[in-house]
Amino acid sequence: MQRREGARAGNDFEVVIAGAGPVGLFLACELGLAGVSVLVLERDATTASPRKGPGLGMRGLNTAAVEAFYRRGLLDSLFDPRERAWTVEATASFQYAGNFAGIALDANRLRPARWTYKLPGPALLPGTSDLERIEGVLSGRARELGVAIERGAGVTGLVQDDEGVTVSAGARSVRAGWLVGCDGGRSVVRKSAGFEFVGSDATCAGYVFRGALGGPGRLSPGFHRTPRGLYVVGDSGRSM
Ligand SMILES: Cc1cc2nc3c(=O)[nH]c(=O)nc-3n(C[C@H](O)[C@H](O)[C@H](O)COP(=O)(O)OP(=O)(O)OC[C@H]3O[C@@H](n4cnc5c(N)ncnc54)[C@H](O)[C@@H]3O)c2cc1C
Repeated sequence: MQRREGARAGNDFEVVIAGAGPVGLFLACELGLAGVSVLVLERDATTASPRKGPGLGMRGLNTAAVEAFYRRGLLDSLFDPRERAWTVEATASFQYAGNFAGIALDANRLRPARWTYKLPGPALLPGTSDLERIEGVLSGRARELGVAIERGAGVTGLVQDDEGVTVSAGARSVRAGWLVGCDGGRSVVRKSAGFEFVGSDATCAGYVFRGALGGPGRLSPGFHRTPRGLYVVGDSGRSM
């Protein structure tokens, strides 16, 4: 995205970002740091949600994400270094370092010393946090940098012209030089702007729920395929 020279006449903000998830908020912080005037419009009224807190909201952060937070001095707000799931010290047996789509990663097979492009220090270790905390840290930082965040204001439409874009959020209308769609997988911005979504239709559906299991000890940790689907059992506090 190109930087425009200040907010043009008639624009309320230089940039409007749809979505206060991790991506929208991190972008808002970066733009705020560069002195750009930013408004974030978020559909949900609050960051507090059973989907986002400890448990269902747990997210493993890879080293690239951790480094981005480290470079901006936010890492210690995100998690205590002592909360890291693994160390770079070799161990005799398998050492869980996270997973991608159920494929578990053995920390002993990682060679951080070969990652010469990375900053040395705590950024070399991945870690686990939850969306509520991540979004809380980034919202606080964004506000410190002068970013305006409006919650309960989902983007419903847009009209583009040569000078910028008029963004609708229900009855609210905002004028900006740019609109950035960070509004997740079913992005209203993407659809309204007519961006093609290249890909194939979903072949399976995932459901998330919170419940209490009777006799959870009978389930063994890890990913398990069954004739009727897949289930995952994780330690509490660790993203699986
Ligand atoms: C079960 C699960 C486990 C995962 N585990 C991991 C993991 O361990 N590690 C990892 O790196 N990633 C993980 N991911 C992926 C990670 O959560 C996403 O990549 C990340 O949240 C994407 O961030 P985002 O800001 O792009 O979108 P989102 O997090 O989807 O945020 C989009 C935001 O936009 C808002 N919004 C939606 N529509 C509108 C609208 N019309 N107007 C305004 N706001 C709108 C939403 O309320 C939301 O706040 C996981 C995902 C799931 C579902």
